[in-house]
Amino acid sequence: KPTIGVLALQGDVREHLHALAACGAEPVPVRRESELAAVDGLVLPGGESTAISKLLEVFDLLEPLRLRLRDGLPAYGSCAGMILLASEVLDTRLDMRALSGIDMTVRRNAFGRQVDSFETDLDFAGLDGGPVRAVFIRAPWVEQVGDGVEVLATVPSGPAAGRIVAVRQGNVMATSFHPEVTGDLRVHRLFVDTMVRPRARV
Ligand code: GLN
Repeated sequence: KPTIGVLALQGDVREHLHALAACGAEPVPVRRESELAAVDGLVLPGGESTAISKLLEVFDLLEPLRLRLRDGLPAYGSCAGMILLASEVLDTRLDMRALSGIDMTVRRNAFGRQVDSFETDLDFAGLDGGPVRAVFIRAPWVEQVGDGVEVLATVPSGPAAGRIVAVRQGNVMATSFHPEVTGDLRVHRLFVDTMVRPRARV
């Protein structure tokens, strides 16, 4: 079974470890370069992207992770993890170190005060069994995607209707929301499946 790391510098690491184990993967927390080198895939959890970004530098993981992503490491980021995987981050107060796992521009804390945190059911491309319950917590959205990035889900209704909240490019996937907190394993399973049946990076 695939060994899947969860970047364990900050954020909801435990929830992802549980979800991955429930999908039949071998989950391991990743804090060091040697641990990163040993995984078949990596989850970047929800949390605080600025903090995780700084800790990536402190732990000397930023360059190694960039290199592994460039070499095709399968990865999945939820919320803060999505921000970290972007090629560009929109946030006026912030100079973030983008990992460029997906060719996309992401806006941090995009939903604004009214819908700062909310839940909705949304259709998720490639998932059978009905809509996914999506939990958004001070979430980002994807403002722009490059060629070869698939849009997997958008907000169905309300003030943010049509905003992109799940994407995939090759083996790298990201969601604005947190499937790790709902007990619905389908998104994690989709990611684990990419390690069993790899997709070409476009
Ligand atoms: N607002 C957080 C950030 O910008 C993300 C929140 C989350 O991961 N739930 O990093």
